[in-house]
Amino acid sequence: MKPLIQVVEDETALVTLLRYNLEREGFRVVAAYDGEEALVMASEERPDVVLLDWMLPLTSGLEVCRRLRRQPETRDIPVLMLTARGEEADKIRGLDSGADDYVTKPFSPAELIARIRAVLRRSQPQITSETLSFADLTMDLAAHRVRRNGRDVHLGPTEFRLLRHLLQHPGRVFSREQLLDAVWGHDVYVEPRTVDVHIRRLRKALNTGPEPDLIRTVRAAGYALDDPGAGDGGDEVPTELVS
Ligand code: CA
Repeated sequence: MKPLIQVVEDETALVTLLRYNLEREGFRVVAAYDGEEALVMASEERPDVVLLDWMLPLTSGLEVCRRLRRQPETRDIPVLMLTARGEEADKIRGLDSGADDYVTKPFSPAELIARIRAVLRRSQPQITSETLSFADLTMDLAAHRVRRNGRDVHLGPTEFRLLRHLLQHPGRVFSREQLLDAVWGHDVYVEPRTVDVHIRRLRKALNTGPEPDLIRTVRAAGYALDDPGAGDGGDEVPTELVS
């Protein structure tokens, strides 16, 4: 899954330029043109990084950053501030509002992309590393290979992407709609129930040995990767009641 960058900037020409450069470097891009739109979009889309312009109409970038930090669902999203102001005092204000880093306009696309990658590496080391692992599962992203307890696990492409997404966020519960967006993409129309079909296939492929099921079904909510052996499954719902 390509990292999702939310660009917040009211100058449409700059948005176009940023989108072009980011997409060319393998990122997905969503854009908001003012602060209020940015806040709604950030909690709906859960971008991996927010590129936030300081000078915005109505709600300033600083205020947007503070509010992103106050909302539980956006609190952990890294924020890179963009600004024409280059003074030290402004930089400190930006960082005080909760920004992770700061880029002064004019900047080169190469510099900006290097900063984005650095912020991503700090916030999500699992996304930039080549191997994901959880309990007795390992996924080698470069070799496209999954192993459980030393056994090779053979997955179809959808199950592979589904497992990769769960491995990138162990323990977090995803609704069927969130999994559809993350694994199938925003533009594809697929029935939410399709997710259940692929979760079933994924379980079947993973659970060929004596090890416990690592995919937890959360009633009326969705699915999460959980290790029942780690003693953290207190609110677990038996899967038979749900599916
Ligand atoms: Ca602006």
